Amino acid sequence: MADLIFYYHNKLPCAAFKVLETAIKEHGEHELISTFDEFRIDQYVLADSPTSRIIAIDFDNTITADVDFYLGLIEAYRTRDWEPVICTLRADEDENLLEIHDKLHHVGIRVYTTDGKKKRAFMLHQGISVGLWIDDYFPGIIQFGTSLLLRNGIEY
Ligand SMILES: [Mg+2]
Repeated sequence: MADLIFYYHNKLPCAAFKVLETAIKEHGEHELISTFDEFRIDQYVLADSPTSRIIAIDFDNTITADVDFYLGLIEAYRTRDWEPVICTLRADEDENLLEIHDKLHHVGIRVYTTDGKKKRAFMLHQGISVGLWIDDYFPGIIQFGTSLLLRNGIEY
């Protein structure tokens, strides 16, 4: 699988990130950078609620960019008592869910389909705070200029 460049720029300690950082190091061919450069970055890693155990992972061009890596990552989070979930902009349709579960070899993971709605607001509406977001498309999580993005080094 092609190498992926992960972006992470949070200055506060984040235990959820450590799991990902270890997985990236063990993988050996993915890269981690802290400078915002949207032309280089494949995957954005955004720290959100410091008390949440939820890791929200996007599907298209995130998991699908390296399924084996993400299967390992999901397992790594679970063994450390984090709860990885899928959060996708796709609509809640059977064929979407089938494709997602099939690609993940039916590991049994909660899938949230926002149907194009901004992910952070959607999840909060479900009563779910997210600890860490992993996504190739950060505008799908929250709009520009918000504190979450600023805190993660993304300024527009
Ligand atoms: Mg995506």
